[in-house]
Amino acid sequence: MTEQSKAPTGQPADLPILGEPARSGMEPEPGQEGKGVIHLVHLYPREMSIYGDLGNTRTLAARIRRHGYVPVVHQHHPGADFPEQAHLIVGGGGQDSGQVRVERDLDVIADRLRTMAADGVPMLMICGMYQLMGNAFITVEGKRLPGLGILNVTTRGNEKRMIGPVVLRTEFGDVVGYENHSGSTVLGEGQLPFGHVVSGLGNNGEDGTEGARSHNVFGSYLHGPILPANPAFADALIAMAAELATGRPFEPADLDDEIADQARVRQIKRLVS
Ligand code: GLN
Repeated sequence: MTEQSKAPTGQPADLPILGEPARSGMEPEPGQEGKGVIHLVHLYPREMSIYGDLGNTRTLAARIRRHGYVPVVHQHHPGADFPEQAHLIVGGGGQDSGQVRVERDLDVIADRLRTMAADGVPMLMICGMYQLMGNAFITVEGKRLPGLGILNVTTRGNEKRMIGPVVLRTEFGDVVGYENHSGSTVLGEGQLPFGHVVSGLGNNGEDGTEGARSHNVFGSYLHGPILPANPAFADALIAMAAELATGRPFEPADLDDEIADQARVRQIKRLVS
């Protein structure tokens, strides 16, 4: 068992995150804080992390470290106490059944998440967790899962799934990823999307929108995971978190993203030409 997977008595054990060194979920020793300490919380990694979504947490932690900050990675499991410090929140996709399993806990932490959202805490919520950040998710069987209402969106399950690679235009440049959802999401009045679909289906396959953004809360259907091939978006989230954590503007290092850039550009060329 790694340091990271040790759990306090009565709390579920953490999942190992590939590539994350042991102790990465622990506060650094005094003098080892680098440019600052950024607390990152991954919500429900066991129930809600499919199609590689845990890779978003891995990417953020690795990039935080490369930028000269220290990441403290928390995993929040149903029934556990929510971490005291949180500068960046990540949630992934899941089956409808996984969404049902986290509903009760989500209700417990709802006010904390709403307050953090209003305070500008960056959050990246993929697919199933995106749906639960909205007003409601009505499953294909007609079961209504109430959402947190942080994003003004409503989702209904369909018999037909929306599956395939996606290219978006976003404020962070072109973003690539992979969608697989039966839920069809409609933006409410005044709700900004995360991006506009250039290739793929997005929120509902009809209005050309993908995902949603309110404050610094981003919802998106894009798995892949989304962040490794889209480092500009990853760094935008880190910049917001670094400012909250340190009270100073983000001080980025000059990172070599050649491989990520090549992967993204090749995918865009393949899908849009
Ligand atoms: N269960 C949801 C849907 O199919 C979410 C799927 C997902 O997270 N990939 O719409």
